Amino acid sequence: MLKKTAKLLVTSSLVLGLASTAATAAEKVYKWKLATTWGPTLHPFIDAPTNMAKMVEEMSDGQLQIRVDASNKHKSAFGIFDMVKGGQYDMGHSASYYWKGKDINTLPFTTMPFGMTAPEQYAWFYYGGGMDLMKKAYAPHGVLSYPGGNTGNQMGGWFRKEINSVEDLKGLKMRIPGFAGEVMAKLGLTVTNIAPGELYTSLERGTIDALEWVGPGMDIKMGFHKIAPFYYTGWHEPATELQFLVNEKKFNKLPKHLQSILVTAMRVSAYDMYIENYDMSGTAWSQMESEYPNIKIKTFPKEVMDAMKKANDELLVEMTKDQPLLKEVLDSQKAYMKKARKWTEMSDYLFLKDNL
Ligand code: CA
Repeated sequence: MLKKTAKLLVTSSLVLGLASTAATAAEKVYKWKLATTWGPTLHPFIDAPTNMAKMVEEMSDGQLQIRVDASNKHKSAFGIFDMVKGGQYDMGHSASYYWKGKDINTLPFTTMPFGMTAPEQYAWFYYGGGMDLMKKAYAPHGVLSYPGGNTGNQMGGWFRKEINSVEDLKGLKMRIPGFAGEVMAKLGLTVTNIAPGELYTSLERGTIDALEWVGPGMDIKMGFHKIAPFYYTGWHEPATELQFLVNEKKFNKLPKHLQSILVTAMRVSAYDMYIENYDMSGTAWSQMESEYPNIKIKTFPKEVMDAMKKANDELLVEMTKDQPLLKEVLDSQKAYMKKARKWTEMSDYLFLKDNL
């Protein structure tokens, strides 16, 4: 009798054990880390990863938790790509053009000078083949990339003096990243990229003479106008798309429903950052004349714009030589822009032109 009871007990504890293992697998909690290029108070950039992580945690009822580490924590503002690729971080939030030196094929997924506007570029990403090309460019690195929030058209930057000719640009030291930096270098500027947290000090100390950052919503808070009051309209970053990076192996280990929650939260938070930035810039611009009367709004003269366009076209030819994937991406963007721009002209452009 005693023996029989003991056997029964063993059997039931086995069954219970199996059941609890199955429950653990279904509800396993995933704790991820995300590294971003931005500082903890750099709105709205920091809001895209922060909102994404919050949405993911709520939608998954706590099953996927993502800790967001700002640049002051990991101390590597431009090391996001390497840290996600190497697996030190599961995710990143940054901008694809920051590592053009590591893989040139990743350059065009942020923005290109004289390129598409934000609605055109989003249409290209999601309906014009852009996502497939971005996947192809990041595949050799074991990294997945998703749009992570757009700044819309950026301002051309802050200068200490007025720019009346190409000659005035020569010899200036300027912070300007991406392909636009190469265009400016061809026009005789010394070009550098500097992490967001060091921009003001670099301008103040004269390490640089001029810089571009984003647009009024973000720029004015930085105080650049106190040193370099000539504020030029944009040409170089018409639709800067930030990005989420995900380590592919880690992504593949997530159950399907968490993958879906993550992808949805990235897309929603990207859209939210786009409109948050629009709101910030609209508000800042409307206050500029009364609050900051010393800011001088300028547009580069035709001579300068023509020289930029010429340098841009020549550099594109040089850069795509022996770079078939880069050429494929740029050709795709160019063809899409040609198609979409006709509609932009007929819709938004004509509407604005007739109603301003
Ligand atoms: Ca910029």
